[in-house]
Amino acid sequence: MTRATAMAAAERTIPETLQGTRVLVIGFGRSGQGAAELLAAEGARVTVVDDDAVVRRNVDVRRWAQQGIPVHFGPIDPERVAGTDVMVVSPGVSPASPWMSWARKLGIPVAGEIEVAFWTAEAPIAAVTGTNGKSTTTELLGAIVREGGMPVEVGGNTGRALSGFAHRVPPNGWIVAEISSFQLETIHRFRPRVAIFLNLTPDHLDRYLSLDEYQRAKERMFENQTGDDLAVLNRDDPRLRSTGDRIRAEVLETSLRVPVNEGAWVEKGRIVARISGRRFEVCPAAELVLRGPHNLANALAVVAAALWMGISPEVVAGVLRSFGSLSHRMELLGEVGGVEFVNDSKATNVEAVVSALVSFTAPVILIAGGLGKGLDFAALAEASRGRVKRAILMGEAREEISHVLEKVTDVEFAGSMSEAVDRAMDVADPGEIVLLSPACASFDMFRNFEDRGNAFRAEVERLRDGSA
Ligand code: ADP
Repeated sequence: MTRATAMAAAERTIPETLQGTRVLVIGFGRSGQGAAELLAAEGARVTVVDDDAVVRRNVDVRRWAQQGIPVHFGPIDPERVAGTDVMVVSPGVSPASPWMSWARKLGIPVAGEIEVAFWTAEAPIAAVTGTNGKSTTTELLGAIVREGGMPVEVGGNTGRALSGFAHRVPPNGWIVAEISSFQLETIHRFRPRVAIFLNLTPDHLDRYLSLDEYQRAKERMFENQTGDDLAVLNRDDPRLRSTGDRIRAEVLETSLRVPVNEGAWVEKGRIVARISGRRFEVCPAAELVLRGPHNLANALAVVAAALWMGISPEVVAGVLRSFGSLSHRMELLGEVGGVEFVNDSKATNVEAVVSALVSFTAPVILIAGGLGKGLDFAALAEASRGRVKRAILMGEAREEISHVLEKVTDVEFAGSMSEAVDRAMDVADPGEIVLLSPACASFDMFRNFEDRGNAFRAEVERLRDGSA
């Protein structure tokens, strides 16, 4: 074998048209199914493979075959890869999977679900990425565009797959999309008209070798933008300072601390903005329903983007005054015996917990822990000092978090959500806050973060019923 053939083949480019293109869809979960249907409708010759037994049980192979989409279950078959023009992978498929190495070996381009959505979209895309705040910011921007009277659909990352609806949004509307770094690993032509980068703090270091590599993955969001497009960057995040130098799009900045040249900031307690030299007054920051400085930062990014998109400051302000937190993100569950319960189950990394803690002035009883992701918990100590009255820790990472927190507060362990909530209620005095904000993934004890948050809510309801 010559050296040249032993190496990976040069990657072929993606065909300009889908008509007759042979597409192999890897992974047949929700987004894989959406992609397969869409590509077939655009005239591609689609085949699907998946090796997951659960997916296999839930898929009606015969129904798909009738639509002209053969679905195969089982291990990799290199022959199938060899006869394909493009491989479309679901977000859950690891870059280390054998399918991906075969694609690399044969020079077959690998496209992710958002790339597929981009091929078929007629409307511009407003994309939101960052370590934390993506869902909240995406939904907020979607609500503002809707209120502004333009057709809009919202989705991406963990919600509705973009490829399921992107082609249905008319050209005068917007597709507002939450985009993860994983999804950006498999783009080619994906070009959002508006791209918001909220923040970058340690997370997913089980997938990336370093924070730099994680950042490079996120910055791919800007790689196909031109000077006609917009990038919104958080000036307060030191890691994002130099991002503007690496991109071609027009840049708007946001800051909670300082006025910026072009973008949105807070001045004497009011949200203000300057876009193309024109100044806008939006509303007092205190009128936001969303709580905490982190949500104000998310709102600034939305303000900058929405004004640039031509939406009036009055519409923007109106939505900011009514838009509350999403479930499982700093969600107020109500009071029991004067103690306030807050469900922040979506806080699966350290920075999200820090942002939750600094949002409260009253003492907090923190319920945390779960499956660690190789993150350093040290920053929790600083944010907990003087704020956390007691930390109640669960799950696999409880010992590790305890080592950090026991220096600054009282710590105890609980074996279940029910025990954690009971203990929190014992410790809390009226006027204090019980906060579930785990800094960890949920999979050691729960199906996902929603399941964990729902378990917390059920326990709070049990307490409320008991105290009624
Ligand atoms: P994502 O979709 O990026 O996970 P979410 O809006 O679902 O973002 O919020 C995830 C967690 O991060 C929640 O606990 C939320 O309170 C917290 N959070 C939201 N925005 C920020 C931010 N800008 N900085 C730090 N934490 C944030």
